[in-house]
Amino acid sequence: MKRIDKFECRDMMLYVAGKIVESEPLLTDIDRKIGDGDHGTGMKRGFSHVITELEGYQPESADDVFRVTGMTLLDTMGGASGVLFGTVFISGLIKRKAGDYLTLKDFADIFGCSLEALKKRGRAKPGDKTMVDALEPAVEAIIAGADQDMELEEGIRAAEAAAYEGVEYTKTVKARFGRAKYFGKKAIGLQDAGATSVWIMFRSMNEWLHSGNRKDENSI
Ligand code: ADP
Ligand code: MG
Repeated sequence: MKRIDKFECRDMMLYVAGKIVESEPLLTDIDRKIGDGDHGTGMKRGFSHVITELEGYQPESADDVFRVTGMTLLDTMGGASGVLFGTVFISGLIKRKAGDYLTLKDFADIFGCSLEALKKRGRAKPGDKTMVDALEPAVEAIIAGADQDMELEEGIRAAEAAAYEGVEYTKTVKARFGRAKYFGKKAIGLQDAGATSVWIMFRSMNEWLHSGNRKDENSI
């Protein structure tokens, strides 16, 4: 598969949102061990609103789906991570000409810019035990896949695997942001909540792309 259209993009995002909402207990548990325990409820709140916004929504473009998702997270999640997750979906759109379809190259462009914006805004670097540790390898996998003209679902599969490795990596480092930083060495062995959310997003996109939900006419 080379691309998805704007309605498929909406449906994929609805699937992702549903999976994040379902993951609330897991995310709460992770953030409770090392943070203030609010990550699961914040993500659930934000993505529940995304579901409300996107259900039955007629997107103007595929980029529009990302814009609505990011704006909704920004408006409803609250806290530092609302801004950061909003950034992941919105910042990559600014320099683009929105179209009706998304290819792996579009994912590379969008998430490539978002990653840069996230790092700039949050000031976290790889190895600081944040969502950057999952997003950066995922984005690198997407860019590499796009350069090799990989099929969309194969590129997102690679992103999921890379994000998973990133979550595993967060278990090996101390935190430099949020409450987790006060845990010092005690944070070793525990994974980062935001990185876990990033992995769940790519895992869900991968599941959706590999399921029978897609229309066939875009399988060019
Ligand atoms: P809060 O830190 O306000 O309690 P959440 O619990 O919802 O917000 O989110 C915490 C997650 O946000 C962390 O697990 C981490 O992945 C991410 N995070 C925190 N600070 C930063 C930052 N400066 N840059 C990138 N990600 C960050
Ligand atoms: Mg928290």
